[in-house]
Amino acid sequence: MRRPLWIKNAAQLVTVAGGKGPRSGPEMSDLGLIEDGSVWIENGKIKAVGTTAEMNAQFGEWEEDADVIEAYGKLVTPGLVDPHTHFVYGGSREKEFEMRLEGASYMDIMNAGGGIHATARMTRESTEEELYGQAERRLDSFLRHGVTTVEGKSGYGMDLETELKQLHIMKQLNERHPVDIVPTFMGAHAIPPEYKGREEEFVSLIIDEMIPAVTSEKLAVFNDVFCEIGVYTPEQSRRILEAGRRHGLIPKIHADEIEPYGGAELAAEVGAISAEHLLKASDEGIRKMAEAGVIACLLPATALYLREKAARGREMIDAGVPVTISTDCNPGSSPTTSMPLVMNLACISMRMSPAEALVAATINAAHAIGVQDKAGSIEPGKQADLVLWNVKNYQELQYLFGVNHVGAVWKKGEKVI
Ligand SMILES: [Zn+2]
Repeated sequence: MRRPLWIKNAAQLVTVAGGKGPRSGPEMSDLGLIEDGSVWIENGKIKAVGTTAEMNAQFGEWEEDADVIEAYGKLVTPGLVDPHTHFVYGGSREKEFEMRLEGASYMDIMNAGGGIHATARMTRESTEEELYGQAERRLDSFLRHGVTTVEGKSGYGMDLETELKQLHIMKQLNERHPVDIVPTFMGAHAIPPEYKGREEEFVSLIIDEMIPAVTSEKLAVFNDVFCEIGVYTPEQSRRILEAGRRHGLIPKIHADEIEPYGGAELAAEVGAISAEHLLKASDEGIRKMAEAGVIACLLPATALYLREKAARGREMIDAGVPVTISTDCNPGSSPTTSMPLVMNLACISMRMSPAEALVAATINAAHAIGVQDKAGSIEPGKQADLVLWNVKNYQELQYLFGVNHVGAVWKKGEKVI
């Protein structure tokens, strides 16, 4: 049996404990904050949480048997959860960054054979070892930024072989790397150039071949579609998501990122667990998402990187939509692994409060990828995924922006940073 771990005397312990479903409205401000907080961990799981005085009374006599961490003057939170990434990809696209700064749009670059198609080419050409190595380094970086669970999408293959290659790499990394990975199949990430003008044939390929192949090996939990003008129509998206559902995949949608296109509405209609981006979501779409309980996954780093106005996070929370936030880690529109930066941006560019940003990056993110029973909050029975931050309170974490404040990270009770 491993020695227990006891983190005590934290200036603030953010538990985000309590409640059942994803949080919305005023619940998004409830951090379950404990001043002078303390957590007792046994066998990788959280055994008890409370004030240091309470934990002293309960566990004080076993102090010598435990590894004790003094967290005086510091903040402790649950490990962050990143619910939307594309972290397995080949190559890199720094040249496009320059092009975009010179005036080219996302769609200009994509139509010129760059963008996602360039990454698909480089991903197809990469060996499994190369892709694995790159993805592993990105996971290490997530961990250094306090992220202990990520969702990861395929979608840089858009042929069966490469889609499976990406998903196999996620499966291997999930077994070997401390960060937990929740895989999503996203064959419908773009229309591959070889299918231009034959889009319906590619939709059939996804439905008839890719989804059955992915699910027969149990390689994904979710099925995601890029519903956007010039990519997949709402009608095609619906068919792909319904086909996934028949094979047990839960729908997600990249919705209304570039143009308003009914993506938020579709997410509500098909019962998607979450809709992503939503920069141009309509009022009606937001209302329908609130009614259906669809989680809005907002990506303010992507909006910043593309020099677009961020999604209406404040209005969505006020309208009762549960909100989560994510890096959208990808080579084209958000090559970052920093969830702390994303929390900063949630406050700065979407007017979310510091508390709302933390809830969005922990328990709501966990709900958005179905890991709420083991991650996203500090509660007895959950995995001991914890971050110690070199700041004195949660407001300071959001206020001192663009800086990595991570002091230590524990994954399942093991110190990994
Ligand atoms: Zn994405």
